[in-house]
Amino acid sequence: MASETDIVRIPQEKETYRSPCNNPNNYAPDTSYLDHTPMKYIKLNIHYMFPSEVPDDFDEKVARKWAKSMYYAAQEALMKNLPSKLPKDNLIPTLPIRHRYVLTGRPNDPTDDGIYFHFDSKCCYSVKKGKNSTLYKRDMFEEYGIQKDTVLNIFLSPHHPDSVKSKTYGASISGVALRNFIKMMWTYGDFTLKPWAGEAPGTFNHEVGHIYGLVHAWGYNDGCDDTPKHSLDIKSNNVMDYNSNMKAWTPCQIGKTQMRMATSTALARKFLVNNWCRLNVDKSITITDSIDWKCKKDLEGNLIIKSGGVLRLWCRLSIPPNGKIVVEPGGKLIVEPFAKIHQACGEKWKGIEIVKFGKEQGIVQIVGEGKIEDSINGIFEMEALE
Ligand SMILES: [Zn+2]
Repeated sequence: MASETDIVRIPQEKETYRSPCNNPNNYAPDTSYLDHTPMKYIKLNIHYMFPSEVPDDFDEKVARKWAKSMYYAAQEALMKNLPSKLPKDNLIPTLPIRHRYVLTGRPNDPTDDGIYFHFDSKCCYSVKKGKNSTLYKRDMFEEYGIQKDTVLNIFLSPHHPDSVKSKTYGASISGVALRNFIKMMWTYGDFTLKPWAGEAPGTFNHEVGHIYGLVHAWGYNDGCDDTPKHSLDIKSNNVMDYNSNMKAWTPCQIGKTQMRMATSTALARKFLVNNWCRLNVDKSITITDSIDWKCKKDLEGNLIIKSGGVLRLWCRLSIPPNGKIVVEPGGKLIVEPFAKIHQACGEKWKGIEIVKFGKEQGIVQIVGEGKIEDSINGIFEMEALE
């Protein structure tokens, strides 16, 4: 089936190419083709850490509702990105954020809603600063984490009562992201705090931002040109600044999270629902214009290049199991030297179908080291029926 004669191989000119695949700006969604950046879903769970002795008025239902309200508010903030306030009079576009959350219980247990309660005075408390700081301790995660490798665990840990008494401590909501889990610190049992108000969901999104590669947007270079250095005195609404809003994501910040999600070796990629591991033809993408993909992508459907469409691949592209690429007459696929078409779940995809009609046929060009892997048929021809 594979027919090498249909591929045009172009030698790679030295020094002509530099990989664009590690530039976060190339991962920002293109609003003309939003489907080219498939939505990513982060699986997470929420753990309440409580002392062993529970007060009489503690109501698990209230606590469960509180956590869910915070989760919904964080999710809502992702659905509605806000324009950046900084710098003043900026023209930074407000792009849609292409990730969401899925509260995830243990499989095969329909009663598990992904919210857990642990009563353990020994490791429930947090001290965020000072000589007794427990900020970087991993004990609650080690002891109580659930589905640690595939679900992002978030712990709600009370500030230590001794800290709360101190006038200089500041027992407001705060958080820390420790490589593969998150601690959010709050005042024990304070369900009067509005879970949908700025600080709780904002802190939630901020810490998940850290897990997906974002750093603080102030004070130093965060690797994004659209989050300029600024003094904390100026009011910011950026998700990676400390403020009561934290709802603005810049294109580079959105791109950076997408880049981390597309990095095969990243721990945080394992927290995603792997929709790229099954073919969903409803998610097929049709190319009818000249398009460059200068970022790694995991597609969920087939890829069809129509007449007049030119797709230039620069990076890793995963086609779902049994999915295919179709290049119709008048369409063109160019595989650049750093590009690799493969199947990211260790399965096989069908291959590239070149459609012929009369004398016309689709064109596939492979430049230099461009690679096609994991396909059943490689490149194959199909005669158009009409
Ligand atoms: Zn932070």
